[in-house]
Amino acid sequence: MPAPALRKRNKLNVIRNIFDHKKLSRTQISRMTNLSLSTLSYIIRELEQEELVYSEEVLQGRGRPSQVVKINPSGWSVIGVKIGREEVRGTLFDAAMRPLKVHGVRVLSYLRNNDGYVKAFKDVLEHLLCENLLGIGICSSGIVEGGKIVVSHLMNVGNLDLGKIVQRDYQIKRFVLMNDTDALCYDIPKAERSDFLVVTYGTGIGASFWTKGQAQHFEIGHAIVSTDGKCYCGQTGCLEYHASEYAVLKSYANREIDFEDFARNEEEKYREIIEKIRSIAAKDFHLVETHYRKAFQMLGTILGNLLIVLKPSTVFLLGEGMVNEQMAKLLKEYIKGTFNREFINDVPFLIVKADWEQGVATATVHRFLHEMIR
Ligand SMILES: [Zn+2]
Repeated sequence: MPAPALRKRNKLNVIRNIFDHKKLSRTQISRMTNLSLSTLSYIIRELEQEELVYSEEVLQGRGRPSQVVKINPSGWSVIGVKIGREEVRGTLFDAAMRPLKVHGVRVLSYLRNNDGYVKAFKDVLEHLLCENLLGIGICSSGIVEGGKIVVSHLMNVGNLDLGKIVQRDYQIKRFVLMNDTDALCYDIPKAERSDFLVVTYGTGIGASFWTKGQAQHFEIGHAIVSTDGKCYCGQTGCLEYHASEYAVLKSYANREIDFEDFARNEEEKYREIIEKIRSIAAKDFHLVETHYRKAFQMLGTILGNLLIVLKPSTVFLLGEGMVNEQMAKLLKEYIKGTFNREFINDVPFLIVKADWEQGVATATVHRFLHEMIR
């Protein structure tokens, strides 16, 4: 590798580690990057001159003060946008990933189509655009590929080319568009250490597999698990029909509810009762456990199969519907009782919280940080 390219690669490696860990001592950076302290000193001086990092003395007990290197918050700014069924919401972050400004636009049910979401997206972007922008990260539910939302049944959106809008109307070339479950992977601590599986549970079900420093989303909610149950996506027998909070709601309310009607009018007609179930489940899961049992068996079957195929080190459970540690326990117990131990290993199931906008903005920094350094 020619010297300037190598120098830039080392520099990028250094700043990326500082960004990921918020603050590091020189010794820690040296260990992470395999660079000598003298080379490191030179690189850090350059990064300081470019106003991307700064050094700070910290007092540690009675010992000598030690020095840590941090990202300069005014080094750049980055926007994270979440396109959700009910709301398009964006956050402007500084380089230290502290939120500076938030703007959300509600998308009412009759506005849920390509035009409606584009209008809301532009409104959000125009409130947040600023100088010194590293880039824009956008995440959305549904299948997202090549700068487009290919399809989202829940949002009634298809072939929506947001990448083109960002470039054409705002002259912004640095943007990332990804699926929303993928975005969450970037906001899970220790994300880059090893392979893990992320499952989001609520009125919908999503999953992503994090491997080799990248997230790979798959439409787990529309994996077919039965020969009955008409799904809003057009298929019959989808996991979301049989295992999401829709299934829990039907058991709790003890009545049939059309899935298409549920998908379309969830917040107006069913939100209140779903929130009631969640709040009971959060306080004492055993009071409503019976309504989750069948749903979690279906979910557990699919998850167990995924464990056999993907062999993740950890399963992270997220989402509005995951409200009690007992839920993770129930899922894991079902899987352990169904699959052979040797097939699935003893994978921990952890309920965690992660933020879409933070996640997609972090992914954007990873993607374009090299353009910030000289
Ligand atoms: Zn489906």
